Amino acid sequence: GEVAARIVGLLRGYPDHPRPGVVFQDLSPLYAEPGLLAELADRADALFAGAYDRVLAVESRGFVLGAVIAARRGVPLTLARKPGKLPGATHQAAYTLEYGTDSLELQRDAVAPGDRVLVVDDVLATGGTLAAVAELVAAADAKVAGMAVVVELTGLGGAERLADHRVAALSEVA
Ligand code: 5GP
Repeated sequence: GEVAARIVGLLRGYPDHPRPGVVFQDLSPLYAEPGLLAELADRADALFAGAYDRVLAVESRGFVLGAVIAARRGVPLTLARKPGKLPGATHQAAYTLEYGTDSLELQRDAVAPGDRVLVVDDVLATGGTLAAVAELVAAADAKVAGMAVVVELTGLGGAERLADHRVAALSEVA
């Protein structure tokens, strides 16, 4: 659609960042476009309208769109963060990176059992990050209402890995 074409037109691909062989898609020009972030948030919200009670935004680039969705829909915002950032008791889920592993945390009292959670990140690649976030939601006895990303990098298996969930990508790049 029109919005997807606009997103793709604004993306900048940086070859060999942060490592040789990786083409990093930079979303900075999208965020610099007046009004676009609100439009993307409203589009993501419309896709899951009435199906979620809370936004769970993924550190760190998921915080941008996630915060705007939560603010415009008027629902609570929760942050899934890198290890050691959140105070108090947390749930933890590890995921595999190209080299090694990383993990994400969720405060144990942040999400109520039965909550319907919309998970938000900027980019879906292999799906490892969002699969880990789904584990955090399950650990809190809550439900993943859906997952929204600005860009899906196709061909990396992300959609297949997240097949159990409703995943909405506002644009796709091969
Ligand atoms: P995955 O876990 O799906 O392989 O990778 C997705 C995560 O890595 C997201 O949190 C995203 O921020 C980051 N990521 C992977 N590739 C890119 C990229 O090309 N551009 C940006 N902005 N983030 C990326």
